[in-house]
Amino acid sequence: MSANPTLKPAVSVIGLGMMGTALAAAFLKTGHQVTVWNRSHSKTGPLAAQGAAPADTAADAVAASPLVVVCLSTYDTVRAVLEPLSGQLTGKTVANLTNGTPEQARDLAAWAAKEGAAYLDGGIMAVPQMIAGPHAYVLYSGPQGVFDAHRETFAALGGTKYVGEDTGLASLYDLALLTGMYGMFAGVLQAYALIGTEAITATEFSELLVPWVGAMLASAPAMAAAIDSGQHLTDVSSLAVNQAAFPNLLSTFAAQGVSGELFAPVQGLLDRAIAEGHAADGLSRLADLLRTAPAGPPDAALAV
Ligand code: NDP
Repeated sequence: MSANPTLKPAVSVIGLGMMGTALAAAFLKTGHQVTVWNRSHSKTGPLAAQGAAPADTAADAVAASPLVVVCLSTYDTVRAVLEPLSGQLTGKTVANLTNGTPEQARDLAAWAAKEGAAYLDGGIMAVPQMIAGPHAYVLYSGPQGVFDAHRETFAALGGTKYVGEDTGLASLYDLALLTGMYGMFAGVLQAYALIGTEAITATEFSELLVPWVGAMLASAPAMAAAIDSGQHLTDVSSLAVNQAAFPNLLSTFAAQGVSGELFAPVQGLLDRAIAEGHAADGLSRLADLLRTAPAGPPDAALAV
């Protein structure tokens, strides 16, 4: 008897936190047969009501489907759940969408290879409520053929962005995107803290801040072109001008009683840029500097 060609491949989801629950629900909605497992079994209830099959053990979940999607809190947790299943992953594909580092991803891929399992690493660029929506996407890295074999299944979660054979790349992209996000929010929060030292609400100020940050962000592609070409000379705003203005921020933070702990390192980097002869360059030069150790005694900042 031949398999029903309209039947979608079975998927098991291990980890039903906020994100894992959203992933499993998205697979269910697109017609996959979904088996779910979670340490706290009670979280399987709502998904079972939507048609998922709850597994009693992680081993049962792995046995149920050729593709096992893992979404747990940390890589340590992933290892704590998967390592006891040694010998039971042969022939399976593990797609681990847990947030971690490139090194953790490569180590886990090596472990999976020893187990005879194919391994893809993923980075989810969405919050649970966005999963399966138009703005959600997931980064994947690992063997292209393995990704291609499951691309249609992954499409249930939103966009699929395959970034390369090196298993660590999805995590690197993910962390670089998060770096941009945290940097932006650090500035936004500092601005709210500063403006709030006078009788100005954050809500009122956001009407100016949001378009300002948006307009500044529009220069990011030009900065990228400068970084890629190594041509940092600017007719917009030199590092000399920025370095001279930046102390006004730090002294105003102090005068208004706002901590300067987030911004003081930026002054240090601007000072280094000038000391190393880049006064006429634009801010894009700082990206190059961040990839080099400061002159003088070894700096702990690069060895965190
Ligand atoms: P939650 O805290 O909601 O869920 C954590 C999950 O890990 C639960 O399934 C929990 O099980 C399980 N877990 C924790 N410790 C253990 C353990 N020792 N043994 C077995 N299971 C364990 O986190 P999220 O679902 O929000 O996040 C999951 C992953 O997705 C994280 O890596 C996160 O960074 C990433 N992510 C999350 C996003 C978000 O907006 N939420 C966005 C993008 C990525 P139990 O229910 O039993 O506690």
